[in-house]
This record gives sequence, C-alpha cells and structure tokens, in this order.
Amino acid sequence: MLSPTVAPLIPSFASTLAKHEVKLVRGETKVLQLNLGKLCNITCTHCHVNAGPGRKEIITRETVDQVLDWFDQHRPGTIDLTGGAPEMAPDFRHLVKRVREIAPETRILDRCNLVILNEPGFEWVGEFLRDQRVEIVASMPCYSAENVNAQRGDGVFDRSIAGLQELNGLGFGKGDPSYPLNLVYNPGGAWLPPEQSGLQADYKRELKQHFDITFDQLYALTNLPVSRFASFLRREESYDTYMELLANAFNLGTVEGLMCRDTLSVSWKGEVYDCDFNQMLQLQLKDDAGAKLDLWDVDPTKMAGRPIALGNHCYGCTAGAGSSCGGTLV
Ligand code: SF4
Ligand code: SF4
Repeated sequence: MLSPTVAPLIPSFASTLAKHEVKLVRGETKVLQLNLGKLCNITCTHCHVNAGPGRKEIITRETVDQVLDWFDQHRPGTIDLTGGAPEMAPDFRHLVKRVREIAPETRILDRCNLVILNEPGFEWVGEFLRDQRVEIVASMPCYSAENVNAQRGDGVFDRSIAGLQELNGLGFGKGDPSYPLNLVYNPGGAWLPPEQSGLQADYKRELKQHFDITFDQLYALTNLPVSRFASFLRREESYDTYMELLANAFNLGTVEGLMCRDTLSVSWKGEVYDCDFNQMLQLQLKDDAGAKLDLWDVDPTKMAGRPIALGNHCYGCTAGAGSSCGGTLV
C-alpha cells in the first residue's frame, strides 16, 4: 500500500532564495577558518561539532604544515581557529607562531571556551594568546550561573568567570585593539537570540557589577539544527517547530553578509567546506568534475562566483537579524 504523501512543513531554503530571485554564490575569500578537531575538555548541549573529551579526531603536524604552506602562498587576512577546544591540538602553538612569522599583521582568532584557561596542563594558554596578539572569541552563553551550567556542565560558569578575569588581567577586553576579547551568546534552547546590542549592554552591566569583568563586543548567534543541537531538538520533539520558527523568520537582508560568501572552512583533515556547519554535515566543496577538494587544491582567487552548498539548516543563518561567526548580520 502506498503511504500518503506528507507535505513538507517548510519550503526548501533553495526555493526560498529562488522565490526572492537570489543566487547565493561565493564572493572574495577573506577568511581561512580552520577546525583543529573535535577534542574538547567539556561537552555542551548546543555543540554543532559533537565535541567532547572522548573525541580522537585532531589535526596532525603534517596537516598543520600543509595548511601553513597554503597560508604562506595565499595569505588570507584572517585565520580563525576553532574546534573542539583549538588549544588542545598538540600543534596549536606551532601553528599560531608560524602564522605570526609568515605574515605578522594577520588577524588570528581563537574560539576559546574559557574553561581551557584553568584546565590542568593548559595554564600557558592566556599568556601565549597575549604574546601572539591572538583575538579571543569566547563562548559565554549567559551571565547567570544556572543557564551556563545547564548548557555547558556543572562548574563551567565559575571556571568561565575565572578565565575572563585572567584574560582581563592580561590586558584583553580593555578596549585595546591589539587585545580584543569578544563574547558569544547562544540561546539555551529552541528560540532565536534577543537583539544583540541590548543583550550586550546587559552582559556588560552584569559582568562588571558582579565580577569586575570587561569585554569588547558580544556576538549573538543562533543555534543551527546540526549535530548535537539537532539531536537535542529531536529528543525534545521540537525539531519541526524550530525549523518552522527559523523559516518563518527568513530575512532577505541577511543573505549578502553570510559568512559562507568569504570564508573557506577547513577540517582537521584538510577538507574544504563553505562553513563549519557544512563541515559537520559533510557537504565538502567539489571541483567542476565532482572531485572533493582539500585546501591545497584550492586557489582562493578563483572561488568567487562558485556555488555554495545549501540546505535547510541555512535558515539558521538567515533568521531574524541573521547569524554568523561575528554575530548578527543586520
Ligand atoms: S560548544 Fe565549544 S566548548 Fe562546547 S563542547 Fe562544543 S567545542 Fe567544546
Ligand atoms: S549554514 Fe549558513 S554559513 Fe553555512 S552555507 Fe548555510 S547559510 Fe552559509
């Protein structure tokens, strides 16, 4: 017997773009975002990487050196290091130092979970980032202990506060453009982030008043329905509702600034994607013959105009004020 056809709850992301007569293609490549692996010292409920202490996937020295060769040849202005906890990659320091030597004015970002700063064996992290002028983008999903611990694990809030105080003591987050400290908010469940500038004012007031902490900017990110957050939604039976929420909040004004337009996202194995979410969904970039691309196959000057691998998860980046690695888009 034929099963009845079930109408999809939301239109496909591609059809929504087509309805607005938008063709989403890559622009000029400006950012190399390197995911150093899935090893992390904590396990957050919202993690789109499925990272945690038991994960073995981590970049090797050989791949780091291949990435550095490519970097030396092409010199994108920004290298954005993510993971997992990027500092846990054994060659993290080698990578950062070599980038500084090759192109001293490169903007280097470390997506830091803060808890790594007081993890035994990683006490070097804060001073190393300061000495290498690495910009810190730190996860801090709330200024309340209850919300942070619920999302990231018991004790994470206190350890994050201690990490922020250490970074302030090293000169980060004090308005000096050489030592930026930016925080990342993401919702604790299946809802959109509140308006970014108002939330930033709340964070600044609360962190200063209760912990004497300062920082530069707050980036409000939307949770994308990928990996562990997708599993969380399915367990809560809210996956479909969340997708409807994202699709109904589609904002055409966000499309121009999507990070996939100017970023090459590279996995711990060197594979290339349009963004870290596509990396987790295995939507690897391909050449015209359909062969999967690694970083060393890519000439960044020839990427403009190439298509972007899209899916319905992309509604997470275009909902409301939009979402990217640098916060809201409009
Ligand atoms: S969200 Fe970040 S800190 Fe949390 S488990 Fe994932 S990689 Fe680690
Ligand atoms: S998930 Fe976001 S950044 Fe990635 S391809 Fe889709 S719209 Fe672009």
